Amino acid sequence: MRGLLVLAALLVAVFCKETFEGHQVLRITAKDEVEIRLLKDLFDQEHLQLDFWMEPGGVSLPIDIRVPFSSLQDVKAFLGYHEIHYEVMIQDLQELLDKEQREMMRSRAFQPSTTDDYDYTNYHTLSEINSFIDMLVQENPKLVSKIVIGQSYEGRPLNVLKFSTGDTKRPGIWIDTGIHAREWITPASGTWFAKKIVTDYGRDPALTAILDKFDIFLELVTNPDGYEYTHTSNRMWRKTRRINSGSSCIGVDPNRNWGTGFGGAGSSGNPCFGTYRGPSPYSEPEVNSIVKFTKSHGNLKAFLTIHSYSQMMLYPYGDTDVPCVDEAELDALASKAAMDLESLYGTKYTYGSTFNTIYQASGVTTDWAYDEGIKYSYTFELRDTGRYGFILPADQIIPTAQETWLALMAIMEHTMNNPY
Ligand SMILES: [Zn+2]
Repeated sequence: MRGLLVLAALLVAVFCKETFEGHQVLRITAKDEVEIRLLKDLFDQEHLQLDFWMEPGGVSLPIDIRVPFSSLQDVKAFLGYHEIHYEVMIQDLQELLDKEQREMMRSRAFQPSTTDDYDYTNYHTLSEINSFIDMLVQENPKLVSKIVIGQSYEGRPLNVLKFSTGDTKRPGIWIDTGIHAREWITPASGTWFAKKIVTDYGRDPALTAILDKFDIFLELVTNPDGYEYTHTSNRMWRKTRRINSGSSCIGVDPNRNWGTGFGGAGSSGNPCFGTYRGPSPYSEPEVNSIVKFTKSHGNLKAFLTIHSYSQMMLYPYGDTDVPCVDEAELDALASKAAMDLESLYGTKYTYGSTFNTIYQASGVTTDWAYDEGIKYSYTFELRDTGRYGFILPADQIIPTAQETWLALMAIMEHTMNNPY
């Protein structure tokens, strides 16, 4: 009986998973406003089921879209007819996904019992990451604890790692990864950061100085329902898993759900879109739990939210081109952090305000955090620039985490040296 149940579960796992055979990722480069307007007509056609990997921004910024096999002919004919330039970035998405799965299976054969044995060179499921969290806490009880700041829409715990070396309440630094479900490189890097912190404390003078003054809070899987769903059902899922009343489309974009600028341009009111902002500000428990935590803590000094991809560091604002008061300082710090990051493997980042660097986006995390008084608020977009996009090969996890860590250190040190 048990064998039959296992078999049934396996069949469900195999056959309910969405496949992406023949799906391509196209990079479209519009040369002027006329082409951008033409493209809007294309993008508004819901039946094509286009999935934006890079949303349309200004002229000359690439737009990356995943096109299902059934829509490929129509889309390519449209682009060809209007002579809009595009290239095929990913020829067959499923091929990359199969490779990713094979590597994960290889890793899964071995279950680690300590964080030293954890496979940092591979992607992991939610339950594997949760076990990692528990192991790390158990191994480092004086330095690390786990806080549950709330529950996801589907009732999963929202786990935050707290790194602290003091009894008294101290200023804090917030880092979150995995708020967009399919951006797997971010929780993978976050896991590496967590191990790096416990390894370096007491050894690396810079990190030791930071942890002697600040607590660091790290939420590894900020959107656990979505992340689980990318493993069980649809690797390309981005949003939360909320059921939207009056619509058959699921989920809210947790990076359009924050109160600052909520509802503005650069977010969608259509639940079927990837940037659906939700019914009201902070409607998503995954977002609201961070709001409640931040307010009750009351003394966060840096707020770093990690996404992928496109190799960027973005500071406020996203909903307006009006510069924030601290723009000069935030820009200089981004420049330093980007330089440190590049020094390791030559990876180049661009930086600037969200609005001017990537696209107008309203209701985003960092705009809210900044308006809460947390000056050092940055969105990171990790590797790559589109060759693999969200399906970054696992052999890039450690180099990505290592270089990103240098940028995080630059920001944390600056935060320590410039109290406010
Ligand atoms: Zn993202």
